[in-house]
Amino acid sequence: MFIELTDHLRCPGPHAEAFLVLLPQDVQGRRVVSGHLGCPVCGWGIAWEDGTPDFGGSVAVQSVAPFDAAAAVAMLGLDGPGGWIATAGNTGSIAADLTLLLPGVHVVAVNPPEDVQSAGAVSVIRSGSWPIKQHAMRGVVVGDGAGNVEAAVRSVLPGLRACGSGAIPAGSEFTLLASGGDSWVVVHKP
Ligand SMILES: [Zn+2]
Repeated sequence: MFIELTDHLRCPGPHAEAFLVLLPQDVQGRRVVSGHLGCPVCGWGIAWEDGTPDFGGSVAVQSVAPFDAAAAVAMLGLDGPGGWIATAGNTGSIAADLTLLLPGVHVVAVNPPEDVQSAGAVSVIRSGSWPIKQHAMRGVVVGDGAGNVEAAVRSVLPGLRACGSGAIPAGSEFTLLASGGDSWVVVHKP
């Protein structure tokens, strides 16, 4: 994972959202190949040595995204460099293509298909609970195997969009912008 992703991760423990402390061991460029993440609130922690932090409890998806990266970028309405996008579940299959269409944007792929690796501007995280803070991402792309869709969409910065397929996220904090076929676009209300 990229070292800057630490700022956007949250403890999976059952308490109010809390930041995590990174103790990097092997860092290549800005990528943490091995290290330790710990929570100062509850003492939860994990270590990894293969570039991919695993918070535990994740379920691997085998399918691929139901739409391509160009469609995701259009639905999210994104343009310009900087910041982060998250993919949730099988939409991780388009993570690398998203970084090609959006130079200077990092992608965190949460629970992508097994053949998706941390590489280039893509950081892979595996976790049974949604591992990213609220109001942290420029966009979230939700697919099969995303787990808690509402938690994923809450990671979008206020006023920005999430898109996906399957169940539309429910809650007064989301405004449905478009839906058709099996796909939807919502705005996270400011
Ligand atoms: Zn904790």
